[in-house]
Amino acid sequence: MSPRDEGLAPAGELVLRNVGQLVTMAGQAVPFAVEAHAALWLVGGRVQYAGPESGLPPAAAKSPTVDVGGRLATPGLVDAHTHLLYAGQRAQEVALRARGAGYLEMLQAGGGILATVAATNAASDSEVLDATRRRLSEALRAGTTTLELKTGYALDPAGELRLLGLAERLRDEGPMRLVLTYLGAHALPASHAGQPGRFLEELATTHAAVAGRAQFVDVFLEPGVFGPAEVDPYLADARRHGLAVKVHVDELQDGGGAALAARWGAVSADHCAYTSPAGIAALQAAGTVAVLLPGTAGYLHPEHMAPARQFLEAGVPIAIGSDGNPGSSPTSCLGTLLPWAAAWLHLTPEEVWTAVTRGGARAVGRTDVGQLTPGSWGDVVVWDADDYRVPCYRYGTNLVQAVYVSGRQVAP
Ligand SMILES: [Zn+2]
Repeated sequence: MSPRDEGLAPAGELVLRNVGQLVTMAGQAVPFAVEAHAALWLVGGRVQYAGPESGLPPAAAKSPTVDVGGRLATPGLVDAHTHLLYAGQRAQEVALRARGAGYLEMLQAGGGILATVAATNAASDSEVLDATRRRLSEALRAGTTTLELKTGYALDPAGELRLLGLAERLRDEGPMRLVLTYLGAHALPASHAGQPGRFLEELATTHAAVAGRAQFVDVFLEPGVFGPAEVDPYLADARRHGLAVKVHVDELQDGGGAALAARWGAVSADHCAYTSPAGIAALQAAGTVAVLLPGTAGYLHPEHMAPARQFLEAGVPIAIGSDGNPGSSPTSCLGTLLPWAAAWLHLTPEEVWTAVTRGGARAVGRTDVGQLTPGSWGDVVVWDADDYRVPCYRYGTNLVQAVYVSGRQVAP
């Protein structure tokens, strides 16, 4: 918990009663707990009681009460991987992809990430802030209450620090909890073509200014972008500055990224679409969370999804993120991706819920969100559904009825 969270949290009290099903994510031995005929009592922005309505402490009667009409309530979703801080959009790429252009091909032609870099660097602070606020608002209305937000669309040291400053402003505004990640190493700018090592050396000069502001540093490790030879010294420098590590790995091929992530004790390795059994074993040994991004895989290469079942069977905790970004996953809404996570990753509703709540929290280094247990933040989503399986089943519609952060209604 950071002091900023205390600032976001009101001291309000609230009872949600007549909860048809309450998903708490309580307990380690039984990682998926559903209470029927339940109630939730929030005090000081935090969970005071979560359980059967018949067990609600008498003192709760003095708190304002909302009858949720037998609906489902769950922890707010934790989206552990987004790139929502940018200007512009790339709808023109839909037709290019239809003609067969690949991700790296568009990147090398100055499109892809580099097009968003140009638009973002040309935009004013208020333009970037306003565009990002709209996306964060969409995410909130679809049930995301904690969201990891990466920089990465400036690709030069000063520009990346500007984006970090804008991300801090958005974090301080609330109401969503933002976890900030410094992803200057998102792609290689044209100015440094063929010189990934030199680019990362220059970027590393910002780490002293990033420390204490971003929680994580992240690198796009992929053959043809950044490889282990330049990433290793870059992450060593980040660690010297006290920054925790996340790594984009194995999105387009098995580049040995999972083993590198494990070597650096990464909190998460993200994408993992092509991670090998040896890579999975390395993540398990390191306790690294695999953040799976089915929206992106579905958008770019639906024939090749991350091997979610293999991660689970190997004992690697998984999270599911939206990867919200203007190219390969143009959404802000993890809450509308749940049916696709289930269908494409071959996961049960219980596994999907775990991955988008507790799994996401672990992937952003937090234990106070992603569950509705006494002491956790009162971040709650009420769904227009009476069964926890419904949001993993019905697609194309936003089933969120109400969103609470720290016990305060923030959406709709
Ligand atoms: Zn990403």
